[in-house]
Parts: sequence; structure tokens; C-alpha cells
Amino acid sequence: MLAVILSIGDELVLGQTLDTNSAFLSAELASRGISTLYHQTVADDQPAIARAIDLAAESVELVIISGGIGPTDDDLTRHGLAQVLGQPLVVHEPSLQWIEGFFTRRGRPMPDRNKVQALHPHGTEIIKNDQGTAPGIKVSFKRATIYVTPGVPHEMRVMFERSIAPNLAVGGHVILSTTLHSFGLGESDVAEQLGDLMRRDRNPKVGTTVANGICSVRVRSEFDDAQQAAAALDETVDLIREALGPVVFGHDHHTIQQALISLLEEKQLTLTTAESCTGGLLGQMLTEVAGSSNVYVGGWVTYSNGMKKTQLGVPESLLQQHGAVSEEVAIAMARGAVERSSADLGVSVTGIAGPTGGSPEKPIGTVWVALVQRPGLAQPGPGMDARLLHLPGGRSAVRDRAAKAAIQLLRFHLLGIPLDDMTWTRRDVNQSEPMPRGQRKPS
Ligand code: AMP
Ligand code: MG
Repeated sequence: MLAVILSIGDELVLGQTLDTNSAFLSAELASRGISTLYHQTVADDQPAIARAIDLAAESVELVIISGGIGPTDDDLTRHGLAQVLGQPLVVHEPSLQWIEGFFTRRGRPMPDRNKVQALHPHGTEIIKNDQGTAPGIKVSFKRATIYVTPGVPHEMRVMFERSIAPNLAVGGHVILSTTLHSFGLGESDVAEQLGDLMRRDRNPKVGTTVANGICSVRVRSEFDDAQQAAAALDETVDLIREALGPVVFGHDHHTIQQALISLLEEKQLTLTTAESCTGGLLGQMLTEVAGSSNVYVGGWVTYSNGMKKTQLGVPESLLQQHGAVSEEVAIAMARGAVERSSADLGVSVTGIAGPTGGSPEKPIGTVWVALVQRPGLAQPGPGMDARLLHLPGGRSAVRDRAAKAAIQLLRFHLLGIPLDDMTWTRRDVNQSEPMPRGQRKPS
């Protein structure tokens, strides 16, 4: 069974309101084994609405429309539906009484304009809306069963759950899906490492998306049998984890900072931060995680050289000799943070976020991240390390990626994985070539 979802409203096509109804409906349908062929967003324009309904009804078995059944002159979905059905609009008496009652119960007379909400194309079924004034409409036309629901997201949801979902019989067909998240590889590198796993004719299907530097891999397993779907999903997830390795930090709702906090909890280690170009973003991300206080002791935002010296004890000579964005200063910041706190591990970030301040030797996006471990800690691996990153994008992207990179480097350190295994790739809108690998400064 295939579905089309139509969203009606000028505010949607103008970009003033984000169409969240389609996302909700598609996800609900997918979980019931119904695939959505397309979404269409249509202005409050009767002929355009009629054309959209006509095309959808001849394309698929299920059409769900939201919006355009309010009381105002621009609410034209019922008129568009009547046009395509070739039926007149008629008054549905019980709805008229319900709408009148809706206002009486609130101690107000019904505005005349609300009468239009009791109209429906002749021969269509009315769906009760006990959340608002606009009843829904149901009708069979061409291949499809068509449902019209209110645009108000809450009213649409209640109507879907109470009056539409129970009618969607799906004979044992099951779709299971999950999404793995990675940081450190670009989408094309991920695709290359996944190889045949991404073939379009494969089941479970595997696809990638990138948002905010995080490359996510969606897996969708579609079978008649629930057990078979689950087994195939698990097997594919294992293959993806094997192909991508430790750049994968979690799945579904997991964040990279949650992954780090869990790892620190598991190892019973505490962390402090010394931030320059990220201005506290790293601390903010870490403290977003409930329970982070068990492992994150706090940190410093040392933006000026003066603060780096007085708060973290970074020697003036290092700042003079190497500049604030350097391996030496990054390590001195992380070491200062460990010495001045109770933490087992210190991480520092210092870089050039732009748009000004870049130079040929240190272009915008040059960021040093350093890790320093308290001496004598049982944690294996080197007691300190630093990595030079070349991050793409504008100021906020550089700051965001720098904070995430620091988190991912800490994860690798805690997992005992050489940091050299991390690659940093350019994934902004125009670019798809890989960036140079995270590298040690040649010494
Ligand atoms: P309507 O039923 O067209 O009068 O829509 C009522 C209100 O619901 C609109 O003003 C929007 O704020 C909201 N709305 C309508 N359609 C959507 C949609 N697809 N996604 C999110 N909100 C919507
Ligand atoms: Mg509207």
C-alpha cells in the first residue's frame, strides 16, 4: 500500500510555518508498513488543491490531506475536494449542531463564518473532531481512500490516531528501521566504506544523510514476518558498524556527547574543559546530558591570552613563540585545566573560527584539540596528545565541529584507538572532497 500526503496552506508554501504534519503522518504510516510515495504542499488555491487531489487519488491507495478546512475564506480544501469529485457542498446537520455547541459551551455565539465548516461534498463521510470546530472528511475516489484532517497539528494527530489509524489494515507486513550516527567521516567516505550495503535493491535498505557534521546511516528492514525483519535489521546494523568502525558513536536518539559521558562513567573517569574558540560550547554540549555531573567537573572559557595565562597558567613564552592557536598552547591549556581541577582528563580547544583572524599559515578553520591525562592514571595510551584539525564552514560550523571533534577524540582516547585513525572531511554545501587527515604538526 502506498500513500500520498498533501499539506494545504499559504503559510506552508511561503515558508512561514514548517510542515510538521507530513513528517508525523509519514512516520506513523511507515510504522504501519505503509510507504509514502510523495509529499506535496499546496497553497490555498482551489484549482491547485483539486489537481493535487486528483493526481494523488489516481497514484496511490491512501491520501491524507491536512489543512485548509478552517472557517476563513482562504480555507479551500473542501471546495477543492468537491470540485474534483464533481459534487456540490452540502450542510452536514449534526456537524452544524456540534460547531454551534462548541461555541455555546464557551459562552459565545457561533460566528457566521464557522457555518462553512459544516459543509462537505455530497456523498462523503464526516469524521468527528472533538478537539476543534473543523470536522474531517473521508471519501473513496479513483484508487484511493482520501482523508481530510484539520491543519492544526494537535487536532490532526488526534484525528489520525482515533479515526484513521484503526482503518489502516496491513496484512502482517512489517517495517523496522534504525539510524546509526557517525562523526569524522564525510558522506562520500561513509558511502565508499559501506559499498554494496547501499545498493538500492537491497533489503534492508541503507541510506545516508548529513546534518551538522554528523553522518547518519538509515537502515530500513521490510518483511512480511516480524522476526525476519528484526533479524535482517540486526545483521545489517552489525555489518555497518564493522564497515565504519569507531566513528559510529550511537544510534537513533543518541548524541555524541551522551556517548562520551557513558564511556567516562563506565571507566569512572572525570573530565575538565579549557575552551577558547568554542567559547563554552563544549561545556554546554556535555552538560546537556542528564547525569553529566557524575563525570564532568566543569571548565574554563579562556578567550584572551591574558585569561589563558592567569586562569590556566599558560606560559607567556609559549603564546609569544607559537601563538594562541598552536599545539603547545593547546597542551598547556589542557594541562592547566587538569592541574587546577580534580579531573582525570583535560581537553582543550583553541582555533580560528573566522570570519577574520585567518592567515596563510593558520587559515580559518585551523583548530588544535589537546588531551592531557592526570599523571599516574591507569588509563592506557599516551598521557597527552594533540591534533590539528582543518574544519570547513563558517564561524558557527567551525565552532560546532571543533566541539564535536574534541568529544570524538576523547572517545577514541578512552577506547584506546590511535587518534590517527580519525579522518576529517569537508562536508559543506559545495564541497565533497575529503579534507586532509587530522595530523600531528610536523616537528
Ligand atoms: P488550517 O486548517 O489550514 O486552518 O490550519 C490551521 C493552522 O494549523 C495553520 O495556521 C498552521 O499554523 C497549522 N498548520 C496547518 N498545516 C500544517 C502543517 N502541515 N504542519 C504544521 N502546521 C500546520
Ligand atoms: Mg490554512
